[in-house]
Amino acid sequence: MKHQEAALVCFSGGQDSTTCLFWAKKHFSRVEAVCFTYGQKHSLEIEVARKIAADADVPFQLLDVSLLSQLDPNCSLTNTGISMDREKPADSYPNTFVPGRNMVFLTFAAILARGKGIFNLVTGVSEADFSGYPDCRDTFVRSLNVTLNLAMDEQFVIHTPLMDRDKSEVWELSDELGVFDLVRTETLTCYNGVMAEGCGDCPACKLRREGLEKYLKRRR
Ligand code: ZN
Repeated sequence: MKHQEAALVCFSGGQDSTTCLFWAKKHFSRVEAVCFTYGQKHSLEIEVARKIAADADVPFQLLDVSLLSQLDPNCSLTNTGISMDREKPADSYPNTFVPGRNMVFLTFAAILARGKGIFNLVTGVSEADFSGYPDCRDTFVRSLNVTLNLAMDEQFVIHTPLMDRDKSEVWELSDELGVFDLVRTETLTCYNGVMAEGCGDCPACKLRREGLEKYLKRRR
């Protein structure tokens, strides 16, 4: 059943957030998207996101939080001088981790949403394919949800439709939503900024491809 309410989707133009965008369109009467620029090396993803939102007839807003990239010089997604960790180091997070990113995104999204009279937020984080990022965990999202409500004296609800889905189940959901081909050909997940199937080599491409292969095996 559709909520007679609006939702704001944290949207990056990748597989996960694109699936969330169409999930939100199915479940809410009005959907808007917010995309963040945070000093990421590949600005193509912003154009990809803008196009998907426009095609889906979803209002799109870009927020600049590039201050993030100035705070931590050790992140390979924002510092061109650093080569990307291919595996998770034994005693720390891979340098594809952007410290505080999801907290900052969701916090700014909530402030933006409140100004629009929107109190449902949607984010594509998942702890099933847990890449080692602490801010993709359900505990974190629930905790931040409480904090945002206290901070602004509102009743936000943060929706995480992918939380328990592995990548193959995210593909399955996009299929159920009728956007399997769109997600497969028009999104950008790759850390090296290559559309669709991507570079095939980075950790994000690997995860996406393995999920796709797993799903295609059981797809009728
Ligand atoms: Zn890649």
